Amino acid sequence: MSSKPKPVSSAARVIPVPKPLAPDRAAPKPKPVAAENLNPYDFALLQFERAADHLGLDAGVRRVLSTPKRQLIASVPVKMDDGSISVFNGYRVQHSIARGPSKGGIRYHPGVTLDEVKALAMWMTWKCAVVNIPFGGAKGGITVDPKKLSLGENERMTRRYTSEISILLGHDRDIPAPDVYTNSQTMAWMMDTFSMTKGYSTLGVVTGKPLAVGGSAGRNEATAEGCFVAIEEAAKRLSLPLNNATAAVQGFGNAGAAVARFLDEAGVRVVAVSDSKGAVYDKRGLPMDAVFAAKEKKGSVTAARGEKITNEEILELPVDILVPAALEGVITRRNAARIKAQIVAEAANGPTTPDADDILRSKGTVVIPDILANAGGVTVSYFEWVQDLYSFFWEPDVVRTHLERTIRQAYDEVDGMARRFNTDLRTGALILGVGRVEEATRIRGLFP
Ligand code: NAD
Repeated sequence: MSSKPKPVSSAARVIPVPKPLAPDRAAPKPKPVAAENLNPYDFALLQFERAADHLGLDAGVRRVLSTPKRQLIASVPVKMDDGSISVFNGYRVQHSIARGPSKGGIRYHPGVTLDEVKALAMWMTWKCAVVNIPFGGAKGGITVDPKKLSLGENERMTRRYTSEISILLGHDRDIPAPDVYTNSQTMAWMMDTFSMTKGYSTLGVVTGKPLAVGGSAGRNEATAEGCFVAIEEAAKRLSLPLNNATAAVQGFGNAGAAVARFLDEAGVRVVAVSDSKGAVYDKRGLPMDAVFAAKEKKGSVTAARGEKITNEEILELPVDILVPAALEGVITRRNAARIKAQIVAEAANGPTTPDADDILRSKGTVVIPDILANAGGVTVSYFEWVQDLYSFFWEPDVVRTHLERTIRQAYDEVDGMARRFNTDLRTGALILGVGRVEEATRIRGLFP
């Protein structure tokens, strides 16, 4: 913490993209990527190359592991309530099935692009391998502002999208789950649509479902619970007593709101939270019940009492623990030097760019990477899938015990890799995850 961060130029800088190690006639020559223009897929590739360098992977294996297995772009026509027809772009990308069926969430957001979905699918592959569950990685999404849809429009869009991507889906092929602006209701519609085309109920085709239709106890809070357990592990290693610590949480949805609650219950002073409308701050600590009530009754945490600050300012508050739990690319080389937290726990996927990672590492900040910090969600999704296949459902404490053990073990293994390779937790996690996927890929061999 004492070493000073290196000065960071604000002028557009060029980051070298991973260079091919041997000529590949099928692949276009990679262009240098301007740091300002880094999209999530570019930085997913950069992160992958860092791990691949440590693992000494050869050029052919790098090509296989860094290329999505399948990418589907679908037009999703929807009859709107006023009788007009809108057509949305929908995506489903399967990055890898080397270790099992592919698994990953469905995002509804105006910012969804194919590159974003490709990055999220790749991170899912490494994440499933980090927690050692038998899945590959996938992701899906629709470029849409769901806040502008009625419930009926949202349902019709979900059902048509499911039908469009159903050629890829199945409990033994590709299994969606909720992500930004989708939820258990979305999953129920997806499961029902898929089942109706089969003529029988296939509960295991999606996870994150309501309990009434094959959901698992503990799935709603699983991402946050896993994140909280990872924070506990980091705090233990830093000798930071949680009941004396402060925290800020960006994003107040499935992941962020529940992390804030877990932290609050552990005695952490949660001084700021935010959602898409902005942030609210009180250095004495926010009363969590009032914040939840503001979100529920007035639609935003900003309606709670406290100083109103921006979603940029919340990241730079003087807190011990920072939890980005909204979207990717929020901690960049522009603000990383001003991040004061000792622990950054990435409940969101991809919130930190590789440039920012370097700055945080030089400051001694412990970044618990997304593929570990938010792996609780997919871990309990795996438990849900197992329960659906067996038609035998676990008690909440069984789910909790298995989840906690999985995250603590993964943290230990990631930390071990980081120490062994003298690197940060992100690269340690990637070495662990990429290494497991590479092993499976190598043992299976290349068909034909
Ligand atoms: P959600 O839709 O439940 O909540 C998203 C939250 O982010 C909302 O509070 C929204 O207001 C807020 N938000 C949106 N845009 C914002 C902005 N520009 N600035 C600040 N806040 C903004 O979504 P979620 O499921 O909680 O997902 C959040 C992050 O967690 C995503 O990166 C997602 O990929 C990741 N994640 C979620 C799960 C899961 O199980 N839901 C699992 C792993 C990772």
